[in-house]
Amino acid sequence: MSPSTVLRSTVRDSPEKVGPWSVGPAAPPPARWSPRRKMLLLFAAGILSQYSLDVLVAGLSGWPLAIRCLWALGMVASALLMDERSASAVRLHSAFLSAVASLSFIGLVLVTGATGSVYFHFFPCLPLIMCLLYPQDSLSASLSGVLCSVGVSGLLWVEGRPVSEVLLWAGVVVTATLIGAYGAREFRKAQRAEAEGRVERARREALEQLAISERRRAHSEKLATLGQLAASVVHEINNPVAFIHSNLDYLEQEVLSETPASREELAEVFRETRVGVERVRQIVADLRGFSRMDAEEPTECALADVVSDAARIARLRLQHVARLEVDIPAELPPVLAVRRRLAQVLLNLLVNAGDALEGRRGAEVHIRGRQEGARVLLLVEDNGPGFPPDVLPRLFETFFTTKGPEKGTGLGLALSREMVEQFGGTLVAENRAEGGARLRLEFPVSGCPSNSLPEQAAFR
Ligand code: ADP
Repeated sequence: MSPSTVLRSTVRDSPEKVGPWSVGPAAPPPARWSPRRKMLLLFAAGILSQYSLDVLVAGLSGWPLAIRCLWALGMVASALLMDERSASAVRLHSAFLSAVASLSFIGLVLVTGATGSVYFHFFPCLPLIMCLLYPQDSLSASLSGVLCSVGVSGLLWVEGRPVSEVLLWAGVVVTATLIGAYGAREFRKAQRAEAEGRVERARREALEQLAISERRRAHSEKLATLGQLAASVVHEINNPVAFIHSNLDYLEQEVLSETPASREELAEVFRETRVGVERVRQIVADLRGFSRMDAEEPTECALADVVSDAARIARLRLQHVARLEVDIPAELPPVLAVRRRLAQVLLNLLVNAGDALEGRRGAEVHIRGRQEGARVLLLVEDNGPGFPPDVLPRLFETFFTTKGPEKGTGLGLALSREMVEQFGGTLVAENRAEGGARLRLEFPVSGCPSNSLPEQAAFR
């Protein structure tokens, strides 16, 4: 699974929610009384209930009530007819409501005393309110700004007020609209930044999760390889432990005996015992070092060192199965890699060779290194059965194994190829003409221009 696949499935654009008035991406089919519709009906009721104010301002009259009814009717119609699934339909409805509100307000001012109405002074507020109600949509605020400035100038003009006063009022309304529009734009910007921050956070979390699961996967494969080695490890440790034990028995006997062996003889037994202890310590250290799960940066690695790390552990498996021969010229240039990871790749290949060679006479495994131009080649060859034609094309598939669940995981080659590619190299499998399998690793020589390491983060 590629990082981008993970991202695609993990990071989704979150809809921009800003309350009941937001104009966001297409939403799922709304319930009949969504918060937006409920709010519109509530506003319609509020518009109607304010008729009492009109009575206070202009006395009992039918006109303000008629205008408020029309205004409220517009809102109810919008609440009932609006298709909330379509962003453009919602935008159109907001513009419609803004026009209805502005025209109704102009009408209300007109019938409650025109320029003498108490409401007259609220003209600059209307576009501001539109900006607050529809911050996502500049169309509603602009429409209201234009209608209100035309309305306010018209009312003053009809009454024959001086041009300067007409212009002053129109200017105040336009300024209020611009301030509201600026505030709404800043709000939209902040909202966008927040949404982008959310997506970025989700992206980073997904990448971290990916890196963690990559490490876990590689770690489980390491443990699986060690599991495959377990029987050989036990055998290998048992041998020195057995002779350490018998040496200690012998030493005890000699120390308690009347006629103990010579000091030279005893010293020799001590030396042998120490060699045994050292052998056990070395095996345990190798295994512990190999199973560690550190994040490491690639460094220049001499292939001879990497091969000797892997071969030391692989010998536990191979020693009763096949002869292991290593031919790495000392002058072979280094490659840029994580030594432990590369050793894990080689160990996978050697354990596989051990499995393929089990019970065969004259079994051999060769590791050869050579330089070809700006590339370093590492060949792991055996004289086993090789790859059957139906297995060869599937070798690097994750979880492909011919070994049965108790022995194989089918991860070894897939992970090995992934790791080699992280170091800018390639891993291919082929059958040798003379019989047996060949795994061919190629790396760019460290320091050569072609040596670019993709996705450094993936090493962690
Ligand atoms: P596993 O070892 O867990 O089966 P791998 O991915 O390491 O998984 O190997 C996949 C398959 O490739 C093995 O099951 C085996 O059939 C085949 N294979 C690997 N190395 C060799 C080899 N040296 N000789 C023959 N077959 C091999």
